[in-house]
Amino acid sequence: MSNADELQRAVKSPGASGEAGRLVILGAGESGVGAAILAKQQGYDVFVSDGGAIKENFKQEMLQHDILFEESNHTEQSILNADEVMKSPGIPEKNELVKKIRAKGIRVISEIELAYRHKGNSKVIAITGTNGKTTTTSLIYHICSTGGADCAMVGNIGFSFAKQVALAPKALYVVEVSSFQLDDIQDFRPDVAVLTNITEDHLDRYEYRMQNYIDSKFRITMNQAADDVFIYCMDDEITNNNIHRYPIKSQLYPITMSKQLPNGAYISNAEMHLKWKGEEMQMSINDFALKGKHNQYNSMAAGAASVAVDIKKEHVRESLQTFQSLEHRMEPVATIRGIEFINDSKATNVNSTWFALESMTKPTILILGGVDKGNDYSILMELVKEKVKAIVCMGTDNRKIHEAFGSVVSLMVNTATAAEAVQAAFHFGAKDDVVLLSPACASFDLFKNYEDRGNQFKKAVKDL
Ligand code: ADP
Repeated sequence: MSNADELQRAVKSPGASGEAGRLVILGAGESGVGAAILAKQQGYDVFVSDGGAIKENFKQEMLQHDILFEESNHTEQSILNADEVMKSPGIPEKNELVKKIRAKGIRVISEIELAYRHKGNSKVIAITGTNGKTTTTSLIYHICSTGGADCAMVGNIGFSFAKQVALAPKALYVVEVSSFQLDDIQDFRPDVAVLTNITEDHLDRYEYRMQNYIDSKFRITMNQAADDVFIYCMDDEITNNNIHRYPIKSQLYPITMSKQLPNGAYISNAEMHLKWKGEEMQMSINDFALKGKHNQYNSMAAGAASVAVDIKKEHVRESLQTFQSLEHRMEPVATIRGIEFINDSKATNVNSTWFALESMTKPTILILGGVDKGNDYSILMELVKEKVKAIVCMGTDNRKIHEAFGSVVSLMVNTATAAEAVQAAFHFGAKDDVVLLSPACASFDLFKNYEDRGNQFKKAVKDL
């Protein structure tokens, strides 16, 4: 791998494709529009088609770049004549148009594949996993930029990968990647791949077969070669039980809290040890800016990824201490009459809520609920018994939560707005308690999205 200085000198402009043909882009969101801008710049014949209404800002961007598009309609004759189709990650395989495209044998790619094709010599660190992607991506970006690398964070925060390559190319891209993006890669080969963990999620998109979802996540290693690095969590049961199924050629840098390793990262006696290429760095986990066990894993993964692209250890140490926590992820909101309020609205599945509860050190009033994606609440049982004094349900249908916890938590109440939930939690609370919004569910029964849920929660706390 090249060092940070070399990274800065790497070719910054995307190379010419030499194979520009007709590229039809399905979906005009951030990734579709980003891909359209890049493809247009690279000389493809571009057409964007969105079955719904396109947001005004995206329309303006496409007009500025002379990109042809249609909305609320898919004109098949303008789509099925494509040489290649870029499908936005939100569009499922079972979509009728996608089926027709497949039946015609037209190649389907994802936005990260297109971006990768035109990134030139730049390096890529790609992060996937069920939980912890955004946190780990942001941590890696913070470390690499503090360490002087010419880098950008793309995928979920900031631009799409394609738009960044088109408009502001960098020597290093730190890319957050979903399993849907990985489903349609061909050559995408990250220099460093990170798989944070795998738990059940999105099974509706994988024929309800967990193995399909696992296969999709491991595609991040599919094109890696011997000088690339793969970072994964050895303590994650599903990852550990499946890693042997795939012919991974890259160097393995596992992370763990359960044993010492020659390469990768481990925590023992509250010290993180990072080991790579015969080098070693140590740091107390008490110095990590991000608290909680899940963030210790994220910090290990981020440290390992950064040293893999030759960021110096002093920058890794400094950055892991100075990182500022992200909104809606274990975000401290306020302490009112000795009761601390934490916004973890981004916890949209049971596993994230498990880690949130695991990190609680005070009696907890838990705000749970929303749209349940087939949750198995039993994995929370031990932590709820140990730490939770009251549950405030916040959703349109709270039956499953009552069924799961009714016998172990005596204080339970139903609420239907963030303000009601916060007031109820405040009412149950006493000095030195914590109110934790970590819903384990999606938000769209009562809110626009998890950000809206988190913002309404924060406003309600401030209004107390
Ligand atoms: P993603 O981008 O994968 O959705 P985030 O970093 O936004 O992940 O975190 C989402 C939620 O998952 C947070 O609420 C957090 O509490 C939880 N979480 C973060 N990192 C991990 C991890 N390594 N393992 C399990 N849960 C995690």
